[in-house]
Amino acid sequence: MRGMETPTELAERLIRRITEQGPISVSDYMAAANQVYYASHDPLGREGDFITSPEVSQMFGELIGVWIADLWRRAGAPDIDYVELGPGRGTLAGDALRAMATQALRPGVHFVETSPVLRALQAKHVPDAIWHDDIASLPSDKPLIIVANEFFDALPYSQHIKTIWGWRERMVTHGMDGFVPIPGNTPTEPSVPAYLHDATPGSIYESSPSGLAIASALGRRIAKQGGALLAIDYGHEDYNAGDTLQALNAHAYADVFANPGANDLTAHVDFSALAKAGKSAGTRIAGPVSQGYFLGTMGIAARAAALALRYPDRLEEIGSAHRRLTSEEEMGALFRVLAMVAPKWPEPAGF
Ligand code: SAH
Repeated sequence: MRGMETPTELAERLIRRITEQGPISVSDYMAAANQVYYASHDPLGREGDFITSPEVSQMFGELIGVWIADLWRRAGAPDIDYVELGPGRGTLAGDALRAMATQALRPGVHFVETSPVLRALQAKHVPDAIWHDDIASLPSDKPLIIVANEFFDALPYSQHIKTIWGWRERMVTHGMDGFVPIPGNTPTEPSVPAYLHDATPGSIYESSPSGLAIASALGRRIAKQGGALLAIDYGHEDYNAGDTLQALNAHAYADVFANPGANDLTAHVDFSALAKAGKSAGTRIAGPVSQGYFLGTMGIAARAAALALRYPDRLEEIGSAHRRLTSEEEMGALFRVLAMVAPKWPEPAGF
């Protein structure tokens, strides 16, 4: 793994590759850029490029811990492992495990994380976790409760663009103006749904083959081993077409094709596709619902009130975190929550 490559070194490597072998796919570009981005620094929080729900307030991870403990108890309190995909700083896991412990649930902890910098931060919150480079090595002998917050949006997306000659994969080349997207040479109609074949030139269709492959594989694990997967991300249902790829730097939008490895590249998660992958894998689907609805149903108002009573000097901060996580203008509506549940497990709370 190219652990500590800098954005400048990455740009030089991509330019060399494009010069020698021709344009690369948007998907390969996004994968290379995010690998360097996450491997080299901690992007989260106020000083970073973006802030995630677990970094807004401890209430987020705690309510997920309550969700897990409730489902586990109603499933008959079996021996389970807690799995988190892309745990960031480990804040969500720390808060969730603390809430689970109050319900007498102390699962083994498995983190799927590629970034060495973030692994080191996660170890501070959860020292006895076991780390994995990918999902293949996760335990196969017991039910898994898997949590993924802002994980699927960071995986590589493929894009296709309609040209006057038909659909082509969207590629990245390098020229006078730096990296720029261009249509590839080979027709890609088979990768684009039939209803789009006659779309207006310039239309873009995107999908996340690697994200959906992970969702399917984990769905099959859950169907077989028991347990559930809780995915929280910003995204949409009933996606038809359109380009949602974006770059974030210091809490502002940046150019997706400038400075690969220096900005966070993400795209909207297609929750309908995620649900379909889970269903074909044999799991039951709950949701998607909005994050505001999910947290509301899980009792965030009561948790905020209890915290405010205990820490009266932090009243305003707690109130504003509550609003930030649930209000429609902030993270409450754009963020969606979906669960895949093993066929014989009970209905999850919150949906
Ligand atoms: N869940 C955290 C962090 C979200 S950022 C939070 O909510 O705060 C995305 C996370 O996914 C980071 O931890 C990043 O290092 C990790 N990640 C990105 N691509 C990955 C991949 N292909 N495999 C494993 N982890 C990945």
